[in-house]
Amino acid sequence: MKNIVVIGGGVGGTLTANYLASKLKPELRERKIKITLISATDKQLYEPGLLYLIFNKMEESEIIREIKYLLDPDINLVVDTATRVDTSNQVVETEKGSYPYDYLVIATGSKVAPEEIPGLKEGGHWFYNLEGARKLRDALAKFKGGKIVVGVMGVPHKCPVAPIEVSFMLHDFFKHLQMRDQVEILYTYPINKVFLMDSVAELVADLFDQKGIEYKTFFNPIEVDAKNKKIMTLEGEEEQYDLLIAIPPHKGSDLVINSGLADKGGWVPTDRFTLKVEGYDNVYAVGDATNLPVSKAGSVAHFEAEVIAENIAAEIKGLPPTARYYGKTMCFIETGFDEATYIWFDYETPPKPVMPSRFIHWTKIAYNRLYWLTARGIL
Ligand SMILES: Cc1cc2nc3c(=O)[nH]c(=O)nc-3n(C[C@H](O)[C@H](O)[C@H](O)COP(=O)(O)OP(=O)(O)OC[C@H]3O[C@@H](n4cnc5c(N)ncnc54)[C@H](O)[C@@H]3O)c2cc1C
Repeated sequence: MKNIVVIGGGVGGTLTANYLASKLKPELRERKIKITLISATDKQLYEPGLLYLIFNKMEESEIIREIKYLLDPDINLVVDTATRVDTSNQVVETEKGSYPYDYLVIATGSKVAPEEIPGLKEGGHWFYNLEGARKLRDALAKFKGGKIVVGVMGVPHKCPVAPIEVSFMLHDFFKHLQMRDQVEILYTYPINKVFLMDSVAELVADLFDQKGIEYKTFFNPIEVDAKNKKIMTLEGEEEQYDLLIAIPPHKGSDLVINSGLADKGGWVPTDRFTLKVEGYDNVYAVGDATNLPVSKAGSVAHFEAEVIAENIAAEIKGLPPTARYYGKTMCFIETGFDEATYIWFDYETPPKPVMPSRFIHWTKIAYNRLYWLTARGIL
């Protein structure tokens, strides 16, 4: 029997496991293969929902599901933390056991590391995990006016467009509360434009101007003075704030760092086309965990999962593994509570954002509800 082990029960891990189960149904039923998904938690969080949760537009019950209900019933779910990958003996060790593998898929994602900026934990808010989003929701509800800084504090980070979206949504949130004239919104970004990609940067800067959202570029925070509510930057600037919404630095999972499978940031060196971990023929990486020059986005994890599942299934069936990932990425960009645009791009094709519309916004809202079908591998 061949063992396929997937580590991580987020978008990338769940989808890879479900696609594998669907492509290898006869082999699973005849016990020629076993698919095991190891997840540190028994629940999956739909992270894009956090952007709505902070404005009370989605509830926790809508954005959290038990992983066991998302997986094909023929997948063996193990709720346990993987502690080491022993690539010499092809075994994944966990806190409670060990799991041999013939094929391994690393889907351990990324996490925020606010501790990397001194003072940020004490002085800032963020919405990039559930705990942070809950606190920010409460802080926004109590906000009496003043200056809000939306500060990107390191790249790469998950969902590159989320800081832009939250700035637009803050504008509408305070407009709706009839307080917009009492709130200053300042967006900061580390490079010389408001976004990495020119076409998006141009559109966003234009919309920021129209909505009175200020922005500063070449702004790289190195410290937060929580007591005096000040951000200090590498460029020698100081910025005062009343509420800081930070996009903290991100890093990969400790598992890949401790197993010698990742670079210093915790990103797994991965072949950009085959998605094999460099130096290994039977180990793949999917989603945020990779070091690929693509967005850390659920859509990327989704498209990559298709390629990995197709190639592993082909090898098991004795067919040539010819699927390749070409950098396909798709992102909605909310430009407020009522309108959105979207971008899609790949390694060769730059994005061309369209003018924001209500239709695109409602498509995104519909996708937020339909995501749980995607996770099951149905949509
Ligand atoms: C606020 C916000 C908004 C976003 N909006 C969008 C959007 O609109 N569109 C979009 O495409 N993307 C969006 N994203 C990004 C998207 O959520 C992530 O890119 C996606 O979740 C990555 O999937 P993943 O499977 O690689 O990692 P994750 O979903 O992070 O899953 C990794 C899993 O691995 C588990 N794990 C880690 N280490 C271990 C271990 N040692 N043992 C066992 N399990 C382990 C973790 O517990 C976790 O469950 C957003 C993210 C945020 C935070």
